[in-house]
Amino acid sequence: MPVFLPFAGCRTRCLYCASSAQTGLPDAAGGDRGLAAALASLEKALQERKARMAPPVELGFYGGTFTALPDMWTERFLALAAAFRACGTVSAVRCSTRPDAVSLPQLARLKALGLGAVELGVQSFDDEVLARSLRGYAGAVASEACRLVRAAGLELGIQLLPGLPGHSPAMFMDDVRTACSLGPSTMRLYPCVVFRGTGLERLHARGEYVPWSLDTAADACAEALGVTWEHGVRVIRMGIAQEPGLEHQIVAGPYHPAFGSMVRGRALAPLLLRRIAALGCPPRRLMAPQHVRGEFWGYRGECKARYAEAGLTPDAVFWWQAPLFFLQ
Ligand code: SF4
Repeated sequence: MPVFLPFAGCRTRCLYCASSAQTGLPDAAGGDRGLAAALASLEKALQERKARMAPPVELGFYGGTFTALPDMWTERFLALAAAFRACGTVSAVRCSTRPDAVSLPQLARLKALGLGAVELGVQSFDDEVLARSLRGYAGAVASEACRLVRAAGLELGIQLLPGLPGHSPAMFMDDVRTACSLGPSTMRLYPCVVFRGTGLERLHARGEYVPWSLDTAADACAEALGVTWEHGVRVIRMGIAQEPGLEHQIVAGPYHPAFGSMVRGRALAPLLLRRIAALGCPPRRLMAPQHVRGEFWGYRGECKARYAEAGLTPDAVFWWQAPLFFLQ
């Protein structure tokens, strides 16, 4: 259950960020009023879930710099979550924040208040890319922040933002490998899009920034997904979540409502094609897990031709409940 606190705790505005536009919620950076309203609306939503005995939910405080909020506010949000955890309405609590807004004592304090996971908006580990996006920290700070989260006994999530100014698919792959080496439990990949009203929009209008194409972003994320699979890291989001009116806020860039599904289809194909090639003959039969059925042939069947070239056609593919592929 996301609890968006747009820009709350943010000291600066990053070049690309449109936290309010993305969530459709007012800016909460203004201070106590916005935060009090968010707290009240969270309490109401949790009361309502409790009343109808809804299944427990994990709360996620997103959209700002949660760990940079005044202590009073982190305490109030986490105390509310703890109260509803005690009665089974809330199962766990996570937040997102900036890599330069965490310290070991403060993470330990938040953990003692019930926080279970921290997602760091790393975006990239490349110093030049970070500087051009006005992030205000270097890659080494991001790596250290990842270590601090784990040292505090919290679950680590890493968010990457491929396609920022000066970023290439090869640099993104370096970022993904670095991220995986830091032991995250989860990752999110948000290819950079140009939002209205951002510094990036002004660069784009002047011709000084060209976003990645949808194909470039999908191929890069598919390759990245293969790496995360090898490391056992769960990618819990690819592409920006659809919110009402979101498309009107996007000026340019690789946005697609089915981005994650498109990427998963493209990530799976090379893995299976390698296995098919290793057979040394066209496959007679592939048993595939039922849960990949919707994405197996790729978005709108875009991977079908590649499978057909390798001799795998739909009549040779069968679905089963086992979480394994079986090829013969
Ligand atoms: S720190 Fe995060 S939420 Fe705040 S302005 Fe930068 S990208 Fe947006």
